[in-house]
Amino acid sequence: MASLTRRNTLRLPVSTRVLIRPRNRGELVAALEALQHSGIPRVILGGGSNLFFAQPHFGGAVVDTSLMTAVVVREESIVADAGVPMPRLVRAAARQGLGGFEYLVSVPGTVGGGIFTNAGRGRRLGLNLSDWVESVDVYTPGGLQTLTRAECEFGFRWSVFQRQTAWVILGARLRALPAAPAEVDQRIRIRMDWVRRRQHRDKPNAGSVFKAGYRIDNRALRAGGAGFSNRTRNWIVNLGGATSSDVLKLLSACRQAHLARGLPAPTLEWQVV
Ligand SMILES: Cc1cc2nc3c(=O)[nH]c(=O)nc-3n(C[C@H](O)[C@H](O)[C@H](O)COP(=O)(O)OP(=O)(O)OC[C@H]3O[C@@H](n4cnc5c(N)ncnc54)[C@H](O)[C@@H]3O)c2cc1C
Repeated sequence: MASLTRRNTLRLPVSTRVLIRPRNRGELVAALEALQHSGIPRVILGGGSNLFFAQPHFGGAVVDTSLMTAVVVREESIVADAGVPMPRLVRAAARQGLGGFEYLVSVPGTVGGGIFTNAGRGRRLGLNLSDWVESVDVYTPGGLQTLTRAECEFGFRWSVFQRQTAWVILGARLRALPAAPAEVDQRIRIRMDWVRRRQHRDKPNAGSVFKAGYRIDNRALRAGGAGFSNRTRNWIVNLGGATSSDVLKLLSACRQAHLARGLPAPTLEWQVV
């Protein structure tokens, strides 16, 4: 049994029967093939910043990609393994005079998780990781494939990987724009200043909880150690000692509060295990 408490950004005390931590694409493929033959259920974990473990213990295998951090920048092209943290991707590109996607510097996830969720800014702004993706290398039970951007079927917070749950992102090729490192640094600073002013980052959280459609004042809702942030309205924060069960109660209270006002229950932004 292995703890996942440090591997989910809400810091919920959860564990898994098996934890596998491949260091490169070859080790990831070998682990996935072994799991496919064994029939043990598995979950792919990136930064754990959009994944909610609804039970305190997962009886299968968690494949954690966070040690797969190879990133190669050549001319305007960036090849990154699935586990590269988004801030590292932005900074590696900046060092080589490339930019354009600095707004992703504040996303505490990985390239794999970012492609899965098509991470980006709000719907209105239309700034998404998919704008920069050229191709994605994927493990499928039938063999390895390289998908074009069109084949990834990107939409707002959507990619084909949310439908094809047996597919695993090994890494991706992105194309960035030439930019002076000082200019990129400045844009990173502006983004992080905005984040520090506007987001409730001093308590563990997992970013936005619900998709659009969230319509009540939730600030008074609380369950055990979990509560809604009074600063970033659509975030649940771990106020101290929160458990999966606390978070489930809070989600349920929020849905009930919507229904009680005759409003449709909001849908979850998080992926649930
Ligand atoms: C403080 C904070 C701020 C945030 N800000 C933003 C923001 O500005 N914009 C935004 O879009 N999101 C934001 N998020 C949400 C989150 O960071 C993103 O959704 C991020 O892309 C998730 O990446 P991850 O690596 O943490 O994925 P995880 O949470 O580890 O996983 C998410 C899903 O992706 C799947 N997955 C992960 N890696 C792979 C892979 N290699 N192959 C196949 N499937 C995979 C997992 O199985 C899971 O279903 C924020 C979260 C926090 C905590």
